[in-house]
Amino acid sequence: MSKLHDSQKTDLVTAAKRYATSYQGSPAERYMTHRGLGSAAKFRLGYVSEPAVGHELHRGRLAIPYLSPATGIHAVATIRFRCIADACVRAPDGSYLPPHHEKHDGHGKYMGLPGHPPRLFNTGALLTSRPYIALDEGEFDAAAVEGADVPAVGTPGVSTWRDHFDPVFAGFEVVFVLGDGDDAGRRFATKVCERLSNAKAIDLGDGYDAARFIHEFGPAKFRERLGV
Ligand SMILES: [Zn+2]
Repeated sequence: MSKLHDSQKTDLVTAAKRYATSYQGSPAERYMTHRGLGSAAKFRLGYVSEPAVGHELHRGRLAIPYLSPATGIHAVATIRFRCIADACVRAPDGSYLPPHHEKHDGHGKYMGLPGHPPRLFNTGALLTSRPYIALDEGEFDAAAVEGADVPAVGTPGVSTWRDHFDPVFAGFEVVFVLGDGDDAGRRFATKVCERLSNAKAIDLGDGYDAARFIHEFGPAKFRERLGV
């Protein structure tokens, strides 16, 4: 696994701060509100209006910092970016702006930084005193589940699981695995359940991910599905 130098870590913290400062009133904030994720403030999401060195191609994108429970130069483990040009977003005057592009030709919808290995999102949730934790496919679902008062970590995708993720879940009575309600999401849940003996797949139904389920049915109904 590649290791970041201290100066690179400091740069990450500085960049994340800068992007968070630009978030309020930005297209990134409107995008999150449009998706019903307006309450994700504690994740210090950002908007790349002035890219840091090396982040130039992420201008105009939503910045998702991977915050760690540590402070100082270790506070931000990495940053991922989401292109929001595919989204129909609400303008400040209330009108809807059409997407700039539907398909992300030449780039991923989500992009990491070169040399940064896949990590778990929201690792602070692992410090919970509850006997359970949720494991979500994607950062936004983890954020939505946290908003529903269930501790949650996210994987940056269905195919990014790493062997060293396994032991961090060993201390929980149950790990609720929340894949998207599609083939890839169900494969993800099956794969995690094969690896973790305490994992329990929760299927929220065709086309539903955790964020959409919570947005439509509310946090109480969601917790009821988990039985917590
Ligand atoms: Zn794009």
